[in-house]
Amino acid sequence: MARILVIGGSLGGLFVANMLHRDGHDVQVLEKVKGSMNGRGAGIVSHDVLVNSLERAGLDVQATLGVEVPGRVLLDQSGQSLIAFDMPQVLTSWSRLYQILRSALPSDRYHQGTLVTRVEERDASVHVYSVNDGKESTWQADVLIASDGIRSNVRQQFFPQIQPKYAGYIAWRGVCDESLLSNLTQTTLFDYFGFCVPPDEQIIGYPVAGSDNDTTRGHRAYNFVWYRPAAEGDELQALLTDADGVHYPQGIPPHKVAWRQLAKVREDARRLLSPQFAEILEKTPQPFLQPIFDLASDTVSVGRIALMGDAAFVARPHIGMGVAKAAQDALAIADAIRAHGANAEAIAAYANVRFAAGQSAVNRARWLGSYVKSPDGQTKPMAQREHQAIHETAIDLGRYGHQSQFKENSL
Ligand SMILES: Cc1cc2nc3c(=O)[nH]c(=O)nc-3n(C[C@H](O)[C@H](O)[C@H](O)COP(=O)(O)OP(=O)(O)OC[C@H]3O[C@@H](n4cnc5c(N)ncnc54)[C@H](O)[C@@H]3O)c2cc1C
Repeated sequence: MARILVIGGSLGGLFVANMLHRDGHDVQVLEKVKGSMNGRGAGIVSHDVLVNSLERAGLDVQATLGVEVPGRVLLDQSGQSLIAFDMPQVLTSWSRLYQILRSALPSDRYHQGTLVTRVEERDASVHVYSVNDGKESTWQADVLIASDGIRSNVRQQFFPQIQPKYAGYIAWRGVCDESLLSNLTQTTLFDYFGFCVPPDEQIIGYPVAGSDNDTTRGHRAYNFVWYRPAAEGDELQALLTDADGVHYPQGIPPHKVAWRQLAKVREDARRLLSPQFAEILEKTPQPFLQPIFDLASDTVSVGRIALMGDAAFVARPHIGMGVAKAAQDALAIADAIRAHGANAEAIAAYANVRFAAGQSAVNRARWLGSYVKSPDGQTKPMAQREHQAIHETAIDLGRYGHQSQFKENSL
């Protein structure tokens, strides 16, 4: 039995902790957030690799994972369907996955309110320094897994030159109760993975479980993500500033989004989006926004320390793979520790397997995001953008990857 520390108790950290705990290791998860983490995220597209990783963690939850859609629909600005085809997919949510993974891990393995401040590798082990309510602690382990997100403290300590890169656009997100929606929206959009592509922008949406993970008809919700260009500088700053003038450069908390920005986005929705999507924007009580970043690391390991999930690579959300990628990283770490033991050799073997996968996810997502803002600043012809968006966004590459037009060298 090895001693393994995981920094970050979000989905990536919970995936790897559950797998390693199941393999009989002494796993401790250090998470800086105190109190409930539920309700943090919104919808998540599931893929076969996600389900396989849950199974490896000992969790057979396929039947209750989320809501299944039969296919996709692209609406024009008048609300007419332009393209529609079958593509069954299951849509789940951050809170559903968190609930599944968190309840599978014994509580004494999960240390909330524990902020990791520094890590050191010496004497064939890793030493981690943390603070909880002003009390300092030191932890020791055979290997350390840093799953501490896009602003990873561990990555910044070892590789400060690797920084997230702003994509040039933001995403408005939110979840609207099914019961609030008109008959038109319920019958023409709600049951589908929906798209609408105004010039230089794109909105996608899909049904997810409602409150208490209720997936019965009438009790579900519609999750949307609306990508909109926002130039770095004044425009982005205004979006990330609350009504009292406080600026949140790393991301504005959902409840702080300025009311003028909410009024503007709803007005823009009425002007630019199909009536179905505009209604969803109107009736979502608290839309929130996130600047879109990606991150490409030079390396995902150092000695006995592995970076995984968003701490290692962040692909823009268009591939819908953030959680599945973190789950695959977790699987590769668990496999490497099974093969080599909890040591630097295992961490190097993990890095060997997952480094190229991370790069490829970032590249594919940049290519997909080029309908919002292409790398050369040129807008692609509408038909090409619509086709690319509806056929390639958040597809399960294992099932539907044969349709991909993407080439690694196409950027
Ligand atoms: C607009 C948008 C849409 C998305 N849509 C999808 C989708 O459809 N499908 C999908 O799969 N993914 C999607 N994603 C991506 C997905 O949310 C992430 O890729 C995924 O959650 C990665 O999880 P993680 O565990 O690696 O990192 P995070 O969820 O960021 O977790 C990091 C954890 O580490 C903790 N932490 C940080 N520093 C410390 C420290 N010093 N000490 C202790 N704890 C610390 C944090 O509190 C946090 O809990 C989307 C992202 C965005 C922005």
